[in-house]
Amino acid sequence: MARYTGSSCRLCRRENLRLFLKGDRCYGGKCAFERRAYGPGQHGQRRGAKYSDYKIQLREKQKVKRIYGILEKQFRGYYYQAERQKGITGTNLLVLLESRLDNTVYRMGFASSRTQARQLVRHNHFLVNGIKVNIPSYKMKSGDKVEIREASRKVPAIVEAMETVVRRGIPTWIEVDKEKFVGTLVALPNRQELTIPIHEQLIVELYSK
Ligand code: SF4
Repeated sequence: MARYTGSSCRLCRRENLRLFLKGDRCYGGKCAFERRAYGPGQHGQRRGAKYSDYKIQLREKQKVKRIYGILEKQFRGYYYQAERQKGITGTNLLVLLESRLDNTVYRMGFASSRTQARQLVRHNHFLVNGIKVNIPSYKMKSGDKVEIREASRKVPAIVEAMETVVRRGIPTWIEVDKEKFVGTLVALPNRQELTIPIHEQLIVELYSK
C-alpha cells in the first residue's frame, strides 16, 4: 500500500496551514510551521503571491489529501464515489473521508495523529464491532464501535494518545468510554460539525474540468 514517506512539516509549510500531522509535536513550540511559516525549499520564501484559479483549486485538493493522508489515486476514487451519491458532492467527499477507520481511531483519541492511527490499525490493535479489522480505509457506519484489543491496551502510543486527547477534544459525533476502551461513531458528521478549514467546492470545480 503506497503512502507518503517524506517530511510532514514540509506539507504544512507548503499549504501555509498547520495540518496537525505529527501528533503532540504540533501543539508544542517545536512546530516547524511556527518557526518557519513560509514555503519549503530553496525558493520557499520567494514563491509569488499570484494565484490562478487552477492553483487555488489544486492547493485545496492537496491540502485535503494531506490532512487525511491519502494519495491521488485513492482520493480520486473517493471523489467519484462522492459524485455518485445523492446530495452535495463536496460534502459527500468529506463525509467519506471522515468515515475511514484510521480517521475514526484518531478522532476517538486512540492515536495522536492519522498517520499513527493508520499504523496502529495495520498492526491489528483494534476490533470493529467485535471483529479484527486491519484496513485503514475500512468504511465506518453510524453506530459502529471501535474497541482496543485487550492485549493492546498498554501499548505506549495508545496510552499516551488517550492521555493527551483532551488537548484537541473528541468531536460531537463520537462517544468514547475510556474505562472500556471503546469508542462509538454515533453518527456520521454533517458539514457544520466539520470545522477543518476546507473549501471542498474548489475540489469539485477542479475535478469537473
Ligand atoms: Fe505541521 Fe507543525 Fe505538526 Fe509539523 S509540527 S506537522 S508543521 S502542525
